[in-house]
Amino acid sequence: MYFYVKSEPGLWTTGHFKPDGEWEPEKDCESKEEAAERVAWLNGGAPQEIKPTLRFSSLDDALFVGVVQDEIKEARTKFPGNGRQFTALVEEVGELAEALLEHGSGSERVREEAVQVAAMAQRVAVEGDSDQIQAKTEEG
Ligand SMILES: [Mg+2]
Repeated sequence: MYFYVKSEPGLWTTGHFKPDGEWEPEKDCESKEEAAERVAWLNGGAPQEIKPTLRFSSLDDALFVGVVQDEIKEARTKFPGNGRQFTALVEEVGELAEALLEHGSGSERVREEAVQVAAMAQRVAVEGDSDQIQAKTEEG
């Protein structure tokens, strides 16, 4: 049976107890979630759904793009249609600014908001914004 322990500040170690009772470390993880996920897997559990926060622990460009695509799928289910897309994008930019001020660059919160900004930008690009199209028609 595998467990994880907080071995140092910011470090979680997975491992198991040997028959003689000695702790046998297995792997160091950068987050509690990563350690919990690994322990579940080591103990034979089915792979859990990987949460965005966990994926963010090793964020790179390709990963970011993948997380944005997941966000778009979810957003299209929650908010189908293309009305007020630009307004939503601007709101997300505001939330990103707020996250940067309150939590700092590189924080989970900033990454989450950046994903939402990218997702809304992509929706505007791909689906358009019916409210903006209407405004242009009214002008002439
Ligand atoms: Mg947001």
